[in-house]
Amino acid sequence: MSKIKEEVKREPIIDAQEAEEDVLSLSLRPGSLAEFVGQKSVKDNLLVAIQAARKRSEPLEHILFSGPPGLGKTTLAHIISSEMGTKVTSTSGPAIERAGDLIGILTNLSEGDVLFIDEVHRLSRVVEEFIYPAMENFQIDFIIDKGPYAKTIKFNLKRFTLVGATTRTGLLTPPLRSRFGMFYHLDFYEPQELVEIIKRSASLLGIQIDDGGALECAKRARGTPRVANRLLRRVRDWTDVKADGTISREIAEKALDSQGIDKVGLDTIDRKVIKSILDFYSGGPVGIESLAATLNEEVDTIADVVEPFLLKIGFLKRTPRGRELTALAREHMGQDTQRIKP
Ligand code: ADP
Repeated sequence: MSKIKEEVKREPIIDAQEAEEDVLSLSLRPGSLAEFVGQKSVKDNLLVAIQAARKRSEPLEHILFSGPPGLGKTTLAHIISSEMGTKVTSTSGPAIERAGDLIGILTNLSEGDVLFIDEVHRLSRVVEEFIYPAMENFQIDFIIDKGPYAKTIKFNLKRFTLVGATTRTGLLTPPLRSRFGMFYHLDFYEPQELVEIIKRSASLLGIQIDDGGALECAKRARGTPRVANRLLRRVRDWTDVKADGTISREIAEKALDSQGIDKVGLDTIDRKVIKSILDFYSGGPVGIESLAATLNEEVDTIADVVEPFLLKIGFLKRTPRGRELTALAREHMGQDTQRIKP
């Protein structure tokens, strides 16, 4: 089979959007703050805010979560509503096309409910302006009729909590950003935290994995719980076909190598990005748009998923003229191309 066909056949381990398998694995989502692994300072602050709001019988302030995909923003929105004992309604910035869509959603909220808006930086301008008074005074202005007969009617909403999630705070407009009372950035997870997540998921899914196997998956999960859960499923599939019994370090290593996921968690697309910067831009600097065009990839995938991780592990650095590869990345590619071809 040609290399291109192999690539097409293999699903990417990383992507900006929630895949179908994530929806199927909703059961892996921790249901309470106590079950939510890592992000200690975010959890501590949320716990205080939730307890204070409950004591005063008031809704929580609007909260904005930022960070790369798969780190737990949606999960936290669900946890907040369950800890507050209220309902959650989920939508996303691009899904709310017209102000009318938002009116429907807002008027259906009850006191204290959580409205979760994923990709909140992608709300249209019109919808965004409409949401300001809703966030600030829990009011919306309807305009009925047209021309000289146009009338504005104020509509009072129940006091709700807007939880927004964004992969890129830089794209949020200052007026929207300033209307959130709390702002938390989620960071990549440590391998030990991912081990805990993998073991929890394994026990929920009935998968046998030992400490070495869990650590190997954790080390290659690019600091991301969603990726950790995906790797666990891929290794389980491989084990079912090629091995038997408990997933050990050795089995996890073989399974992940065969999937093209290397020792530090780079996938095909990461290596394609690194290789293009090396081959076409002599190691950089290069702008994200040019890079995306060269690779025929979405700018969002590179900016949201590939770049943050390469920056975090010190393979890429930002310069005023664009992104540049570091010696570490060159060294890794040199070693790595011997074993796994990009
Ligand atoms: P985001 O909204 O940031 O893209 P999600 O909240 O959808 O990420 O998380 C992706 C998956 O990762 C969830 O289904 C959940 O199972 C898992 N997950 C995320 N954060 C944690 C955590 N801290 N502890 C355990 N599992 C987590």
